[in-house]
Parts: sequence; C-alpha cells; structure tokens
Amino acid sequence: MLKGEQLYEGKAKKVFKTDDPELLIVSYKDDATAFNGLKKGTIAGKGVINNRMSNLLMQMLEKKGVPTHFVQELDDRDTVVKRVTIVPLEVIVRNIAAGSFSKRYGVEEGVVFDTPTIEFSYKNDALGDPLLNTYHALALKLATPAEIDTIKALSFKINEALKAFWAECGVTLVDFKLEFGRLFDGTVVLADEISPDTCRLWDSATGEKLDKDRFRRDLGGVEDAYEQVMSRLLSHI
Ligand code: UDP
Repeated sequence: MLKGEQLYEGKAKKVFKTDDPELLIVSYKDDATAFNGLKKGTIAGKGVINNRMSNLLMQMLEKKGVPTHFVQELDDRDTVVKRVTIVPLEVIVRNIAAGSFSKRYGVEEGVVFDTPTIEFSYKNDALGDPLLNTYHALALKLATPAEIDTIKALSFKINEALKAFWAECGVTLVDFKLEFGRLFDGTVVLADEISPDTCRLWDSATGEKLDKDRFRRDLGGVEDAYEQVMSRLLSHI
C-alpha cells in the first residue's frame, strides 16, 4: 500500500492518501492535547499503543457486528482505513459520572448510572465542540434521522461489548467518545479511534486512572498507565 500525499494533520493523527481512492492511511502521533488544544504535550509511545489498541478493539467489534473503518495494520503507527466523510458529531457514552458530566450536573465522580447515557457534541473546534441534542443536529443537517438512530444503536452496542471486554481485563469503562463516518455508499461505520485518549478507564480494584486524565490533570505516570492498559488488553484479547 503506497503512502501518498498527506491530506490532513489532526491533534493526534496524520492522514495520508493511498493509491486506492477508497482507502486512507492514518498515522498515530505521540502528541497529546487537552482542553480544546490549550494544553499540549507528548506522551512517549502513545501513538504505538493507540494504533494497536484501537485496531484490536475495532476487530473485536467487527466480530460482534459493528461496522468499522478498520482495514489493515501496516506497522507500529500506521493503519489502512476505509475513507469516510466524518459525521461532525462527537458521541459520548457514559456508564459512570466523571469529567464534564460531573462538573455540569454537580455529581461526584464515580457515581454509577442505572443505565448508560449518550450525548452529542458538535465537532467544531472553533466553537469549542458545543453540546447539542439530536433536534439541533437535525436542524444543522449534521446527520439524517436514520443516521442518528443508527449511531445511537451502534454506540450502545459498542458500550456493551467494550464494557464486558474491559471488565475481563480488570478495567472499568467509565465513559468514551466515538466518531462515525459515511462510506462512499452512505453506510455509517465507526471511525476515528478507541484508546486511552478517548476512553476513561479505571483499575477495577483500585480505582486508579489508566487514561488521558493522567495527562489532563497532571497526575504523572501517564506512559505507565497507557502501557498498563495495553498489557492487560493483550493478555485478554
Ligand atoms: N473525550 C474525547 N475527546 C473530546 C472530549 C471527550 O475523547 O474532545 C472523551 C474523554 O476522554 C472521556 C469522554 O470522552 O473519556 C467524556 O469526556 P467529558 O465530556 O467528560 O469531557 P472532559 O472531562 O474530557 O473534558
């Protein structure tokens, strides 16, 4: 697979064209940002872990009937994915109160919900990714009603699969962010990544944070946490 012209450089990944118009190569970087790009840093080895972890989890989800953009891992940092147009919605699924939910609603972090929640943000850096409801998403023509139904159903299905998988690894899936894309034929598939950058993962026994919150909140041991969740995943996949 030929790595062609760079199409785009995001906060954590670069995207390249290939010789096939329906395929792209994503290349995972060690760069880390938080608070809408205000905090910047590097997490050594993060790109390698996120590439491998996201690919393994997406392959696990495919086996359970969730369509994803994953095609083939090329090397440590590079993966071939199906070309999609990203639906400009950040989909957040939560099992336990944390982060912006705790802050917004005044709920202590760690409160377990009876049923998972879902929320959407408008994926728009200039506006700071504002929270929106599905009526707003329709008014803004970000997605069709059918696409929103598909995205909700897939997101809850993904939550059940990931929650069960991480539980086997002794890790509690607190919340996570998903992005979806449309293939050339309009099919909605899971895109972007699933990694400690995009999930809150707590050690089930100790409650220790094993994700990007260590970077966001200057807790130290960031690299160790990423390596820890990766090795737990590898021993259960
Ligand atoms: N998240 C993400 N990208 C974002 C915002 C959130 O990957 O731009 C993830 C985050 O890692 C967490 C979940 O989505 O697992 C919920 O994040 P929250 O809304 O609590 O926001 P935060 O506290 O991270 O600002």
